[in-house]
Amino acid sequence: MPMTIPLASEIFRPDLLAGQVAIVTGGGTGIGFGIAESLGALGCHVALASRKLERLEESAAQLRENGMSASAHQLDVRDPERVAAVMKEVHEQHGPVRVLVNNAAGNFYAPSETLSPNAWRSVVEIDLFGTFYCSQAVLPLMREAGGGNIVNISMTLHYRAWPQMAHAVAAKSGIDALTRTLAVEWAPHGVRVNAIAPGPVPTAGVRKAFALAAGSTADPLFSVEEAMREHAAKTIPLGRFGDPRDIGNAVVFLVSPAGAWMTGEIMVVDGGQWLAGNAGQQV
Ligand code: NAP
Repeated sequence: MPMTIPLASEIFRPDLLAGQVAIVTGGGTGIGFGIAESLGALGCHVALASRKLERLEESAAQLRENGMSASAHQLDVRDPERVAAVMKEVHEQHGPVRVLVNNAAGNFYAPSETLSPNAWRSVVEIDLFGTFYCSQAVLPLMREAGGGNIVNISMTLHYRAWPQMAHAVAAKSGIDALTRTLAVEWAPHGVRVNAIAPGPVPTAGVRKAFALAAGSTADPLFSVEEAMREHAAKTIPLGRFGDPRDIGNAVVFLVSPAGAWMTGEIMVVDGGQWLAGNAGQQV
């Protein structure tokens, strides 16, 4: 029986983040949408920012239909000028930006031997450069607001080897290092910088990769959902895959006063998968 993860407002005080403004990169889909939903449910205005405006508008409308305050902003995190312009736009339209979640990322399996310079650059630029550009652009706005919180979305797969993912492990290792360094450098400005390392959360892309790895096309009776459930039971000590809300609720904890004495922390939220030595097992 799949478990329903409670919305943040069923766990935390519903006005916990009232009056705050958050920017979530990649907030229109998957984990980013779960994070936006958790922040929005607690009274925070959420600005969803990524490349595909139509999808962002749909996601922002979905949040508004559920009584939240949300807006859509088009940007490519690889473009520092556009990033700075959008940060300013959100600040001017919705008020002082107090939260930035660097969630946008790109990913695909590719053997390192034949990984093209473009493919390498694309992932490292979206994940690592994008995280830096967004953080640097939001800093003056957070300083003006008297402080803020940056949460970077990392992963656990670079704690060991993850073959065919050299680009992603390099980028996420850089994000961890950046998290710790910016945390110390920006603490005097009242800006806390933390990260969350999610375990497997079956968003659309993860489902597709799982189906491919399991060879579903060969067997007409194959059920991706069933295979994934069995896989989770075998490899994740808490017995299930993650839900975007698991990550969203952890972000709330970090940006709330509960996390007031935490900075430079990389919080693993993975049902115990990495400790059990199973991170990166596709099937
Ligand atoms: P996803 O649904 O594919 O989300 C990626 C998001 O990033 C999309 O909304 C995309 O929006 C945005 N994006 C991609 N390139 C961009 C660019 N150049 N500029 C701005 N936005 C861009 O993936 P997800 O699974 O939710 O992953 C979210 C985060 O969690 C990522 O950082 C990922 O590494 C991390 N993570 C995921 C898992 C998992 O199992 N799902 C596990 C560990 C870590 P546009 O296409 O509109 O730009």
